[in-house]
Amino acid sequence: MATKGRVLVIGATGFMGRFMAEASLVTAHPTYLLVRQPLIPSKATIVKTFQDKGAIVIQGVMNDKEFMQKILKEYQIDIVISTVGGAHGLLDQLTLVEAMKSVNTIKRFLPSEFGHDVDRADPVEPGLAMYKEKRLVRRVIEESGIPYTYICCNSIASWPYYNNCHPSQLPPPLDQMHIYGDGTVKAYFVDGFDIGKFTMKLVDDARALNKVVHFRPSSNYYSMNELASLWENKVGRKIPRVTISEDVLLALAAENCIPESIVASITHDIFIKGCQVNYNIDGVHDIEVGTLYPDETFRSLEDCFEDFVTMIVEKIHKGENEVYGTKSLVEAVPITASC
Ligand code: NDP
Repeated sequence: MATKGRVLVIGATGFMGRFMAEASLVTAHPTYLLVRQPLIPSKATIVKTFQDKGAIVIQGVMNDKEFMQKILKEYQIDIVISTVGGAHGLLDQLTLVEAMKSVNTIKRFLPSEFGHDVDRADPVEPGLAMYKEKRLVRRVIEESGIPYTYICCNSIASWPYYNNCHPSQLPPPLDQMHIYGDGTVKAYFVDGFDIGKFTMKLVDDARALNKVVHFRPSSNYYSMNELASLWENKVGRKIPRVTISEDVLLALAAENCIPESIVASITHDIFIKGCQVNYNIDGVHDIEVGTLYPDETFRSLEDCFEDFVTMIVEKIHKGENEVYGTKSLVEAVPITASC
């Protein structure tokens, strides 16, 4: 059997990176994790879990060119997956690109995208500033000649809260549901495990070389109104719906409070402007992942919502039985960026 490419995941302690590290290990790629120090205890536990599954941990930072050149050579890395976020994370990738260019052995680079097609989507500020950074990284990669794949996986499968939390770690609300605009604009919702699973298929698929790959599972294509009905059916009761108007989202974005305003601007782009659905995929430079793997299924949003029901039941059994929803019961994890 051919040896699988050696994968370096940068950002495995973060939200999206965990799915990548897990999927790389599951698919039996030799998996290396670049991990920054110091690690807070919860992140140290995550890293230990990956080590126990066979991951090799390398301590260091991406924005140190000599160090990155050294480890790329020493560990003979073939594939680099970056899932960095944070205030400087995205632009730190520019140093990584320089390092990869100089070693000249990288077979595929997947930069920190994992959201919308940033060359097409055009959110208001401050989301736009983040997209401009992602666009710059794209241009520098293309200029460098490093083989790449851009993953545009659209929204994570969860309730799309418009404030400061990683949505897939919170169940949908039980007290009231915020509906953006008239609630009819549709979006694609993809389970984090599927983002990892399909990404790992793409890393050495020649058809995805220098392509933008879009995740558009038709089974997980919902408007806010439909999402609300799905959740009501799951929990077996009606939940009040409150309209959040375009003006409210724009006002929150204009406050420029990071990261909430970034999330508001991207929420506006998705559910008011329809940024996930207002263009066609050309099949040449852009590919829909389902056309590459027609026999592979995506986990349904219905099943993902079932997980949230289980999460709520467990919380109640633990005695955490306050009514929650827009006011979260589980700890909201601050985020640095979304799509
Ligand atoms: P996080 O902030 O959760 O994680 C970022 C990771 O990058 C952390 O592990 C962090 O390490 C690491 N990191 C940052 N800078 C460096 C560096 N210089 N060297 C080494 N490691 C570094 O980010 P997210 O997971 O939220 O975001 C990742 C990507 O996924 C972004 O592009 C984002 O836009 C996208 N995303 C998409 C979503 C969607 O719904 N489609 C949802 C969420 C994110 P440390 O632990 O030390 O801080």
